[in-house]
Amino acid sequence: MSHASTIFDAILAGEIPCHRVYEDDHVLAFLDIGPVSRGHVLVIPKERAAHMHQLSDDSAAALGRVLPRLCRAVMKATGCEHYNLLQNNGAPAHQAVFHVHIHIIPRHEDGSGLGIEWKAGQLGDGEALASRIRDFIQ
Ligand code: 5GP
Repeated sequence: MSHASTIFDAILAGEIPCHRVYEDDHVLAFLDIGPVSRGHVLVIPKERAAHMHQLSDDSAAALGRVLPRLCRAVMKATGCEHYNLLQNNGAPAHQAVFHVHIHIIPRHEDGSGLGIEWKAGQLGDGEALASRIRDFIQ
């Protein structure tokens, strides 16, 4: 499946600059241009895919492999002890750039970091739902 070009393709191509913190054959990580907190990093696959569910297993594995290392580096570089990983899919889910990316967002002692509104509900028919999801896993 092909996807539309985004600003992250231009960054990957070196056509627009970024503050690069990590790169390998499958992954690029760089500072977010509008950081929610100091040390806010974006981690992207080089594969062009708009949403997580469209990403290949190989790119997903490459992202997962490097994430803990990047988190440790951000922690050491900024002194944060806590952080969030955020990955938005779809405009209603707050996605603005339609190329898969994972945010690493430090939570600092001054309170800067990701604000989360989390309204926990009731699980209800948990096993029926889990079974339905299992049925769709390929
Ligand atoms: P989203 O809401 O899609 O999950 O987040 C997209 C992120 O990309 C935002 O945090 C935004 O600041 C960042 N961003 C957008 N354009 C650029 C850019 O040209 N350079 C960098 N470094 N970050 C960008």
